[in-house]
Amino acid sequence: MMNPQDEILKKFQTVSENPHEYARSIKEQTGKKIIGFFCSYTPEELLQAAGVVPFRLFGTARDIELAESHLQSYCCSLVRGGLEDALRGRLDFMEGTVFPHTCDSIQRLSDIWRLNAGFDVHIDAVMPVKLNTPSARKYMVDVLAGVRKDLEKSLNITITDHAISESIELYNRIRSSLLSLYRMRSRKPAVIPQSAVYHTMKAAMVMDRAEFAKDLEALVASLEKLPVKDVETVRKRIMLSGGICNQPDIYKIIDKAGGEVVWDDLCTGLRYAAGFIEESNQPIEALANRYTRRIVCPAKHASITARGESLLAEVHKQKIDGVVFLHLKFCDPHAFDYPYLKDFLGRENVPSMLLEIEEQAPPEGQLRTRFETFIDML
Ligand code: SF4
Ligand code: SF4
Repeated sequence: MMNPQDEILKKFQTVSENPHEYARSIKEQTGKKIIGFFCSYTPEELLQAAGVVPFRLFGTARDIELAESHLQSYCCSLVRGGLEDALRGRLDFMEGTVFPHTCDSIQRLSDIWRLNAGFDVHIDAVMPVKLNTPSARKYMVDVLAGVRKDLEKSLNITITDHAISESIELYNRIRSSLLSLYRMRSRKPAVIPQSAVYHTMKAAMVMDRAEFAKDLEALVASLEKLPVKDVETVRKRIMLSGGICNQPDIYKIIDKAGGEVVWDDLCTGLRYAAGFIEESNQPIEALANRYTRRIVCPAKHASITARGESLLAEVHKQKIDGVVFLHLKFCDPHAFDYPYLKDFLGRENVPSMLLEIEEQAPPEGQLRTRFETFIDML
């Protein structure tokens, strides 16, 4: 018989490997509507408050053909793969999609999607680019209030402040447990493999959030009881930095090459989990605070050095030996930030390497050699 943590991890892995299947089954079982999104600036808390299941789109890794007639081949594979899924009808369980305006590719995709994907609900959240000014925060409040109104209109519902507050509480529970998992993994890597953390993160962005919160809390409680000592690992401690990571094999390959991914700075990782929301009686204002104060991605701006500083702070805090920048090919925002971040780390003698991947990761042997070379030099 499987122990409780293995059972939950198996469930998360199944969802992570078959997200569309999961979405179809949850829709059938609960009757809940499903709304897709691509980017971690999507105010999911409002979707949850609207009674729908927010569903992160990761894009297909295969047969990108239909999307080619709408997008240039130099768009990132996330955007091309997502559109391919929509055009092939693989997202027919969704009611629609929310597009926060972040990178150019996502903004352009929104227009193409509206005209071609054929969903009833299409919401643009045109958020400020510069985030740390009083006017940006005020603007963010207006944008979030607009998303709330658009959801109400599109779904023919009312979203009460009470529902938003409940949603905020739920997201705080989820994010606090995800952070516990990250900290546990950093302190005692043997407690849970990083590939299992990857599947947990992916399930966090796909599953019915109340169900996920319950499972996650049970998982963390169960892992905390495991008799694993706080031993210093002799393996090199690696941090991944970039946008989306949809390649669980990367973790295993780094592992085989003698490294241990113990932390990250990814949109599908810690940047999603970080950012507690105040539980106040002004829930939209509280949400605006999170979305203007969260760790920035390169498509947003807080200050010239904000990303470098937060990356370096985590490198020191988590005792990282080396950083692997993991970028999707043709992802301009991350490519533009890379030279400065590499420099920022280099000034403090933190080694880093860059790995650019397409929808399919390079063959294992090739990747392993690159990681081994990097890890040997740490
Ligand atoms: S890197 Fe920024 S723009 Fe891209 S998905 Fe992440 S949050 Fe969105
Ligand atoms: S931030 Fe990069 S990976 Fe994400 S959608 Fe934009 S171009 Fe693609």
